Amino acid sequence: MEDIRKQIAVYIDGHRDAMIDFWRQLVQIESGSANKAGVDAVAHRVQEELDTIGAYTEIHEMKRAGNMLVSALNEDVPEAPVLLLGHMDTVFPDGTVAARPFTLRDGKAYGPGVLDMKGGVTIAVFAMKALKEAGWAKRPVRLVLAGDEEVGHCDSDCDQQIMEQARGAVAAFNCESGRLGNEVVVQRKGALTYRMDVTGIAAHAGNEPEKGRSAILEMAHKVIAIQNLTDWQQGTTYNVGVISGGTVANAVPDTASILIDVRYLKKEYVLNIEAKLQDVAHTTYVNGTKTSLTQLSCCIPMERMAGTDGLLAKVQEAYASFGMPRPSGIIVGGGSDSAYTVAAGVPTICAMGVEGSRHHSPEEYASVELLYARAKALAYVVTMV
Ligand SMILES: [Zn+2]
Repeated sequence: MEDIRKQIAVYIDGHRDAMIDFWRQLVQIESGSANKAGVDAVAHRVQEELDTIGAYTEIHEMKRAGNMLVSALNEDVPEAPVLLLGHMDTVFPDGTVAARPFTLRDGKAYGPGVLDMKGGVTIAVFAMKALKEAGWAKRPVRLVLAGDEEVGHCDSDCDQQIMEQARGAVAAFNCESGRLGNEVVVQRKGALTYRMDVTGIAAHAGNEPEKGRSAILEMAHKVIAIQNLTDWQQGTTYNVGVISGGTVANAVPDTASILIDVRYLKKEYVLNIEAKLQDVAHTTYVNGTKTSLTQLSCCIPMERMAGTDGLLAKVQEAYASFGMPRPSGIIVGGGSDSAYTVAAGVPTICAMGVEGSRHHSPEEYASVELLYARAKALAYVVTMV
């Protein structure tokens, strides 16, 4: 074990410049989720890099979304594989690279997707290269990179394909954006979004207001009722994030709509959440109004599994062995593709990518030193599972 650890460290330290070059090349390819050609170009560049170590790589073509990449090392070894996960798309529109190219300054890297998550892709690829160089071949290592994570795979079946690729794996490490403060993610909330529409009766607000039935007043009661459903103890939160209704000040409004975001920790809560919202929809505060509720999307949570804590202990040990503090395993409200590897029954640790901050913003940055350290730790923990 000690040998392999040293070999990994020597490989990564010997390839610092190559890692920065690769990272820069990925960031310099414009690959917002809507830019299929750009995402596909990132996949092509990753494939090229993995070809140099003889890894077997397939590109899964998507019609309307960025392609998905699946690559494997030690394919023929008859053991359960370890999964490395990530995505190649960013949240940034075309033109961002020209405005804010990859830049290094004071030990930090800047540029669109530098943290979320081209740094993580760089870490995963070089971890595979380090393992190959060290001659480690105990089990297959499978890299799965989505092309449309930031838009929730709305135009592809990538989520289903991630589950298929994950099934039977012994562990999964998602190289998503790492968080400042030495943390990894062991659990993520799921997200449900709904639209609620109220129909009332329009009337002149001056001449015959008594004939009107205000959809906005009805909705006002409902907004408060929905916000009050939040259960902090259970970790279920309700947020009415958008509201609209009415047309002019001097008419009793006959329409009002809201968009609702619900975050929750366990799949088993969903039925109850839906029932509570239906309750609010069916409770009438202003007689003569009608309400409908529509589910717009459903992202499953990354639940904590029986094997999660054991896997976290190994990650902590691997980090410590390279001089980093032992990372704590935290719960966050935002989703990632780790939900699908967990749904496939695979213990998963998320946010193993490069550490940084302000992702999805122009100030996004990542720590260069931690690119190397976390690549070493990732490669090493693969050998520990
Ligand atoms: Zn991401």
